[in-house]
Amino acid sequence: MATKIALVGIGKIAVDQHVPALKASADWDLAATVSRSGRVDGIEAFTDMAAMLEARPDIPVVSLALPPAPRFAYAEACLKAGRHVMLEKPPGMTLAEIHMLEVMAAERNLSLYATWHSRMATGVQPARDWLADKVIRRVHITWREDVRKWHPGQDWVFEPGGMGVFDPGINALSILTEILPAPVRVIKARLETPENRQTPIGAQITFSDNVTMDLDWRQEGPQTWTIEAETDGGTLTLTDGGANMSIDGQAQVTDGDREYPRLYARMADLVKTGARDMDLTPMIHVSDAMMLGERVVVEPFHF
Ligand code: NAP
Repeated sequence: MATKIALVGIGKIAVDQHVPALKASADWDLAATVSRSGRVDGIEAFTDMAAMLEARPDIPVVSLALPPAPRFAYAEACLKAGRHVMLEKPPGMTLAEIHMLEVMAAERNLSLYATWHSRMATGVQPARDWLADKVIRRVHITWREDVRKWHPGQDWVFEPGGMGVFDPGINALSILTEILPAPVRVIKARLETPENRQTPIGAQITFSDNVTMDLDWRQEGPQTWTIEAETDGGTLTLTDGGANMSIDGQAQVTDGDREYPRLYARMADLVKTGARDMDLTPMIHVSDAMMLGERVVVEPFHF
């Protein structure tokens, strides 16, 4: 039988991905939304989280598709009301608030899932398997996209806690940390921040073990989400955010977009077993890059 779920923060990603994934899933029954202005046709809509928790004790699971800044307060309210919680990426604004949520969930035997949608891209698990027995000589990440296209008018990405270009960059890091057989650490970072904004619009990161990353949010035209790994057995390339994988230019895996259906299938499994999945490694790398990063002021940015 389908489990009732409430979806919170009816904005870009909720409409583009969460609602279609939930509607297509036999595991889930989208029973309510919480959003100050957004709603989904045919679904009971609340504008206040506390009101939904009070009125709908029959909904055991809440999925939070809000930006990271307000997410902690919403997640805390849900856990205190005894609900299992699924968190969009990044799971919060700071590591401390996510650790607090994890403790709260564990104390109450509730499921808590820090989702990383890019890890569910089709090429990621085959890439992990292929790299497992290789000597990796060099890895380079190129993540260049147009912030105006993917975050139209969303000023929160440039506010403190909004992460700037690490909002998409953390997707690349979620893949990197999934496919590498051993951990790496940030050694240095260069953060390009528009003079009228608080968070970077471009960044170049150097990790240990010859891993480098180039992030840019000013890319117009074709968008690039690529990870290339040179090894003793050839060069593995993940393109399109991990959807496609090739070895020495020969396509191995290509597929359409199944990331959000897979996230919700994973959440269904976690709820069935009362488990939690809270890998914060991608967030640790972002935090370290922000701590170590050399700051460079670049030209102002306006949507
Ligand atoms: P968004 O459209 O700006 O925000 C989602 C909704 O959250 C808004 O429509 C708004 O709904 C609510 N909200 C915004 N600020 C709020 C606040 N301060 N307090 C309470 N509610 C607030 O953002 P999004 O692009 O969907 O991104 C949401 C999350 O998904 C982010 O963590 C992002 O990293 C992640 N994500 C985004 C994309 C993408 O392509 N955009 C892709 C994958 C993941 P109401 O005004 O109706 O309350």
